[in-house]
Amino acid sequence: MIRSNPEEIIRKTMAKFVDRELIPRAREIDESGEFPMEMFQRIGKMGVFGIRYPKKKGGAGGNTTLYCVICEELARGLMSVAALTAMQCLMGTNFLFHYGTDELREQYFFPAMRGEKVSAFCLTEPEAGSDLGNVNTIAKKVDGGWLINGMKTWVTNGPVADFFTVLCQTDPAKKFRGLNFFFVPRETPGVSVSKPFDLLGTRTTKMSELAFSDVRIPGEYMLGAEGRGMSNLMSILAEIRTMTAALAIGLQQAALEDSIRYAKERVQFGQAISSYQLIQAKIANMATDLEASRLMTYRATNMVDKGISCIKEASMAKYFATEAACKAADEATRIFGAYGYSMEYTAQRYYRDNRFLLYGGGTHEILQTNIARWVGL
Ligand SMILES: Cc1cc2nc3c(=O)[nH]c(=O)nc-3n(C[C@H](O)[C@H](O)[C@H](O)COP(=O)(O)OP(=O)(O)OC[C@H]3O[C@@H](n4cnc5c(N)ncnc54)[C@H](O)[C@@H]3O)c2cc1C
Repeated sequence: MIRSNPEEIIRKTMAKFVDRELIPRAREIDESGEFPMEMFQRIGKMGVFGIRYPKKKGGAGGNTTLYCVICEELARGLMSVAALTAMQCLMGTNFLFHYGTDELREQYFFPAMRGEKVSAFCLTEPEAGSDLGNVNTIAKKVDGGWLINGMKTWVTNGPVADFFTVLCQTDPAKKFRGLNFFFVPRETPGVSVSKPFDLLGTRTTKMSELAFSDVRIPGEYMLGAEGRGMSNLMSILAEIRTMTAALAIGLQQAALEDSIRYAKERVQFGQAISSYQLIQAKIANMATDLEASRLMTYRATNMVDKGISCIKEASMAKYFATEAACKAADEATRIFGAYGYSMEYTAQRYYRDNRFLLYGGGTHEILQTNIARWVGL
């Protein structure tokens, strides 16, 4: 008997969920503009959020490859639901899992794994986007803990999160070595959350600014050894980039499948438009980019899972797959003709949602700059 491998099992399970539960509701969820709490809780109950954490420590005992398969499948259904899952599995909970006290894990991490608490990750500031060395949210050591003052922006899940992992500067003279992560529960006095931003795509992904005004937290809320914030962030950067590549693969797959279906149905000049070579060329290019994205992305996830350093491979995968997702969504809107311009059809959503992938984990200009350096410039 041939046994299925874990990757196939997870892919089949998620694909079934996406086809039956997510795709039929994708338009309604997207148009509601509300955080899809019910969907979030259902995904939590499926045990998905713990996929990259070990079983004996309360996770689901998977790895980065399985995590990316989940992200890919969900993104095939709806990018905003995939994005909130990606955040909850990795950036939102990683530092709490590794460096939080047992009490904090009990109070926040395990409920987050069950979908009972929402997490968020706060790096970006109004004056510090790509340039994290410029982070100016200050954590000052005070009697019994830390006092935080500053502002974060573009916080995915900010308006709904129960807790935040916040990058702060503890000693501006040390620049990168002064950067550290802190755990901040939402209800801490001095934390205020702005109104949600009005967004182009992923309309149900709630994002906001966050202000910290004399926010006092205990000493053990520093996540990681002092001075290690940046290197701890670097330790998950390859995973963040492969995850984004996986989201891009899901969007490419959806754009490709819908384009093929539409091209076969739509008749012009007495024939399905799929019989025209110019339409075929678009679809052939989408399929080829998708295949290349998959090869690059899962090569990188395999390296992450084996503990092999792969920041170059992960960066190339994120860059290639995301650019391919932008192209695929663009081509889908052309294949759909005028219907690609209509809110009734899916192509417009792919065209808006692909932009979500361009910024997090490094903009493409930053990635291109890094890649050029790694190949010898
Ligand atoms: C949908 C979305 C979700 C996000 N979620 C989060 C989140 O949850 N948490 C969080 O902390 N942040 C989040 N962000 C913020 C994201 O991380 C930043 O947008 C990103 O770091 C880029 O910063 P910036 O937008 O300020 O652009 P900037 O850094 O100001 O860049 C502007 C432009 O200049 C280019 N540029 C900058 N420096 C260089 C350089 N050295 N060489 C060449 N070109 C350069 C950039 O590539 C870009 O084209 C999110 C953003 C978006 C849009």
